[in-house]
Amino acid sequence: MNDFQNTLHFARSQDASDPLRAFRDEFHFPLKDGQPVIYFTGNSLGLQPKGAAAALKQELDDWATLGVEGHMKAKHPWYSYHEELTAMTARLVGAKESEVVVMNQLTSNLHFLLVSFYQPKGSRKKILTEQRPFPSDTYAFASQIAFHGGDPDTDLIEVQPRAGEYTVRSEDIIGRINDLGDELALVCFGGVNFYTGQAFDMAAITKAAHAVGAYAGYDLAHAAGNLFLKLHEWNVDFAAWCTYKYLNSGPGSVGGAFVHEALHGKGLPIFAGWWGHDKHERFKMERTFKPMNTAEAWQVSNAPVFSMAVHRTALEQFDRAGIVNLRMKSERLTGYLAFVIGEAARSAGAHLEIITPSDIAQRGCQLSIVAHGKGKDLFHAISAKGVVADWREPNVIRVAPVPMYNSFEDVWRFGQIFKAALS
Ligand SMILES: *Cc1c(COP(=O)(O)O)cnc(C)c1O
Repeated sequence: MNDFQNTLHFARSQDASDPLRAFRDEFHFPLKDGQPVIYFTGNSLGLQPKGAAAALKQELDDWATLGVEGHMKAKHPWYSYHEELTAMTARLVGAKESEVVVMNQLTSNLHFLLVSFYQPKGSRKKILTEQRPFPSDTYAFASQIAFHGGDPDTDLIEVQPRAGEYTVRSEDIIGRINDLGDELALVCFGGVNFYTGQAFDMAAITKAAHAVGAYAGYDLAHAAGNLFLKLHEWNVDFAAWCTYKYLNSGPGSVGGAFVHEALHGKGLPIFAGWWGHDKHERFKMERTFKPMNTAEAWQVSNAPVFSMAVHRTALEQFDRAGIVNLRMKSERLTGYLAFVIGEAARSAGAHLEIITPSDIAQRGCQLSIVAHGKGKDLFHAISAKGVVADWREPNVIRVAPVPMYNSFEDVWRFGQIFKAALS
């Protein structure tokens, strides 16, 4: 049972006792009719930290005044820029510093990691993933399978929910892994499914995958900055994420990757580039690739400094707030959202379902709402009142209050707008 009340007074009292409340003032909120919107799409594109402009300008200024010398002499030297992000990234995803690297973008990183972790051999050639993964992931899996001469129709398998259910049961995922056994090359799930908002039990999935001799990797687009992750402890083999959703680092910003230390220096196949080469000898410019003994071995290109400048600002906020504190607030904030949605539906007599699991361990910030018979009209009605949510075909409204900058008052106001739109 919870102590929630559907009143402005209650919401404001929650905000007043929220130790993270000051972070809201560090972000730019878009306005509608002169008022800040209720921004519930941090799961799609996080808001801009106010510090981003200065961080970016620093790099532009250093480029203007230093030219090529900025590689070594910029305030944040470009040559090793990514290294300034390593410790904060490791804390964010529960990794050792040697296990993470900020580089490229998400789908590119997935491909580079699949080069190492999808090595079909004989009858061990299948990839198991969740129902309805993000399309880019499906394209990456299918094209990798085809690249190795396999058939995506038989070698790419999605675990489906049971009849009449929206989300996949953990025991069914584990059961499927066990059934596929030595036919399985790789289990690759989203940390949180983009459509249903379901968070998967990565520790259990990884353990089951390893027990049948398969690798386990995760697309953390909807999990990084959202869930409390322990990638190292869970023995995850690899992971990749983007930084423009929950991590507030700007459109198309640089991505991140994790490779477990147990797999460093093991001679896995790598598509190599000079930034993966032993950094102490990089500028000897020798012919033979000598990989780093860390996740940096998977780097191919030098650092995209402008994206990284914004990402550094955003990561510093996560570091100050602490992912554990953020997650604690998030569980309560999203719990309050589920409560006000329920109240709105009840008072409007509307039939709607939250398809995201009600079990807190199986969800992050996001709730996915199916409003039977209303759907898109409802979405347009709340949008007109200053709610920024999103619509995902065929019939889901996604709402994601993020703990970094959303408030309990946002959630309460959303509930009022939602109720009016339902009535
Ligand atoms: C957002 C998202 C992507 C997008 O990939 P990019 O390479 O960053 O364009 C891929 N996969 C998932 C699961 C996502 O949520």
